[in-house]
Amino acid sequence: MSKLNFLLMSTLLLLIGSIPAHASDAPRMLDPQSQIRGVIASIQQGNARFSQSKSKKYFEHFAQRQTPRATVVTCADSRVHENGFHPSPDNDLFMVRNIGNQLVTAEGSVEYGVRHLHTPLLLIVGHAACGAIKASTGNYAEIEPAIKKELDSLRIPKDMDVTDGVLLNINQQVEAAMQKFSAEIGSGKLAVLGAFYDFRNDLKMGFGKLVITNINGSTNPDEIQSLIRSGKLIQPGNK
Ligand SMILES: [Zn+2]
Repeated sequence: MSKLNFLLMSTLLLLIGSIPAHASDAPRMLDPQSQIRGVIASIQQGNARFSQSKSKKYFEHFAQRQTPRATVVTCADSRVHENGFHPSPDNDLFMVRNIGNQLVTAEGSVEYGVRHLHTPLLLIVGHAACGAIKASTGNYAEIEPAIKKELDSLRIPKDMDVTDGVLLNINQQVEAAMQKFSAEIGSGKLAVLGAFYDFRNDLKMGFGKLVITNINGSTNPDEIQSLIRSGKLIQPGNK
């Protein structure tokens, strides 16, 4: 660490020293400066706990290369994180995030996960109360051009209920992925799954439940359950 970095870090530590342990629980009306100090404190505390809980060996295991088993496309929403559905995502989930969990707005990243890291699973995760889906069903003509561009690629009917819209979008993204990666699916190297992360219990299956709603294009709940039970998610020779 350079002298300057050391000074900056020391100042930062002094600044955050007086912040409550659970600063992230603080009311949101705090001024930006206090919010920044609070969130940095949370990040540093969380990172300290994490790094101290892991051995050198833990990190050495994946220091040279990553070997994830799943490429995950999910929304950028702050209420959705992989620790909601994986106990230890390090080196196991190749995460791609954008508003509305879309393939087309992050195509290169998804392609890298599937074709270069060779993850056998592509998992597309939508979620309860998705703001991108809700916005796309309304009038967003006046929104900033870059955001508009990412909403324009969603294909949800106007005024559709947000939960129905999220479920529809998951199916559309799975379909688009199945088209793009038809060779990998056909040769039994890839399964594409869609799921709904339900922190609001909209599907009445439990708060925080990750509900699988699509397996390789199949959206029939009984068929999905049967496929999950059998574990036969790869479909070799179907192309
Ligand atoms: Zn969202």
